[in-house]
Amino acid sequence: MASGQYDFDLIIIGGGSGGIATARRAAEYGQKVAVVEAQRLGGTCVNVGCVPKKVMWYAASLAHGLEEARDYGFDLSVHGHDWTALKHARDAYVERLNGIYARNLEKSGVTHLQGFGRFLDAHTVDVDGQPYTAERFLIATGGYPVRPDIPGGDLGITSDGFFELEERPRRIAVVGSGYIAVELAGMLRGLGSQVSLIVRRDGVLRDFDDSLRQALSREMASDGIELVTGFVPAQAEQGQDGYRLSAEDGRLLEGFDELLWAIGRDPATPDLGLEAAGVEQNTWGFIPVDEWQASNVPHIFAVGDVTGRAALTPVAIAAGRRLADRLYGGMSERKLDYDGIPTVVFSHPPIGTVGLTEAEARREYGDEKVRCYEGSFVAMYYALGERKPRGLCKLVCVGEEERIVGCHAIGMGVDEMMQGFAVAVRMGASKADFDDTVAIHPTTAEEMVTLR
Ligand code: FAD
Ligand code: NDP
Repeated sequence: MASGQYDFDLIIIGGGSGGIATARRAAEYGQKVAVVEAQRLGGTCVNVGCVPKKVMWYAASLAHGLEEARDYGFDLSVHGHDWTALKHARDAYVERLNGIYARNLEKSGVTHLQGFGRFLDAHTVDVDGQPYTAERFLIATGGYPVRPDIPGGDLGITSDGFFELEERPRRIAVVGSGYIAVELAGMLRGLGSQVSLIVRRDGVLRDFDDSLRQALSREMASDGIELVTGFVPAQAEQGQDGYRLSAEDGRLLEGFDELLWAIGRDPATPDLGLEAAGVEQNTWGFIPVDEWQASNVPHIFAVGDVTGRAALTPVAIAAGRRLADRLYGGMSERKLDYDGIPTVVFSHPPIGTVGLTEAEARREYGDEKVRCYEGSFVAMYYALGERKPRGLCKLVCVGEEERIVGCHAIGMGVDEMMQGFAVAVRMGASKADFDDTVAIHPTTAEEMVTLR
């Protein structure tokens, strides 16, 4: 029940990962909660992010697997791949998830307000012309993919458009160097596109450990992805022979039948009426929050991508649930620790990582305190064939006790294995703890406990 004065105890703007998780947790504590969603429930992750992306990743992994099946004695004849059928099956799955989210909100007693939310003042939000008041608000509006501010920057697609493609592009330029660029490049290549991955600096995944970056670049090249470095896009054009992309230094790339920008995401804060509510934004439009997820207006909170910190689904969910636990569950000290968040890049092969890179550890602790252990391997899965993708495991340790502050891996299966190692790192495991753990054989994970 709301506290009389207001329509709701809590109104959440944004029905994505963070918004839905917070709403349901707050409702469990007996609060009267509404979620305002302008588009489809589930947000980026369910509709144009993690979920459809992972379906495509599985498809590309299967394509690799079909090749490798021959090494295991299978006599296969593959008659192409039906991208359109895959897209439609994927869309149907996402639609089922939309329905599940709606039913879960209903079961939890959360009111779903369909429409665009905009603050009228610090206690009122307008939803498509209808005002609603609340004691507290949570902004969980996420973000959207950006396009470059250059001539022709409006040509081609972003990751949103990737999920609308009805057919596989024959030859595609993927511009960008982050998660989305390397993931989509790997999937497209796996499913048969000719892919040029165009980065403006020296390589991909700048914030990741150098050993991972190098290993991924090598594997992408051996998969047939053309990595174009130092290419700062200056203009995009579309002619009869497809898209052309020119660089600031005059280089020209042409003949693409699709062009995909994967150069980052901006926060969904325009038109939110933040000024009317007195909520401050930073230079890039993100909403700065304190360690309790509070904005500068004490009863207005924000979680997820809109805060500009660790733009990952489990982070938005964890921040939101902890906020609800604190505000309504009597857990006065509950908040999210943003250090040591594990993450996986669904490249081919995947990357799993937690903690500091070697360079970060050296900066933070000094060269003399840091010791790294690294090993490269070819997973046994590839033993029978000619293709030998090399994986890598790396531990970054500090101090005499060799506490593990960074754990990094690339290779088959590391996406599934990193969660457990993240627990160990969070608990303060040392290299000796890893060494004393008996290996599981034959696996890729055993590489992590046998590094010398
Ligand atoms: P969102 O999930 O984006 O939800 C925000 C919601 O708010 C949206 O539904 C939007 O329509 C709504 N909204 C916005 N403004 C308004 C308004 N004014 N009124 C009403 N509604 C509004 N993360 C991972 O952890 N793993 C992955 O594998 C992964 N893959 C990704 C792949 C891609 C291609 C992309 C783009 C992202 C991926 N992410 C992944 C990131 C993940 O999707 C986001 O971090 C996560 O969705 C953020 O959740 P959120 O609640 O902050 O926002
Ligand atoms: P990122 O911020 O990760 O990467 C975008 C990169 O593109 C920048 O770091 C920059 O790299 C490069 N770039 C920026 N502007 C330009 C430009 N004008 N021309 C060329 N290159 C440019 O963004 P993404 O869009 O890849 O992903 C957004 C976020 O979504 C990720 O950071 C991640 O948090 C989340 N995500 C998570 C996934 C997962 O968990 N598996 C998967 C997908 C997304 P540089 O400066 O090096 O050139």
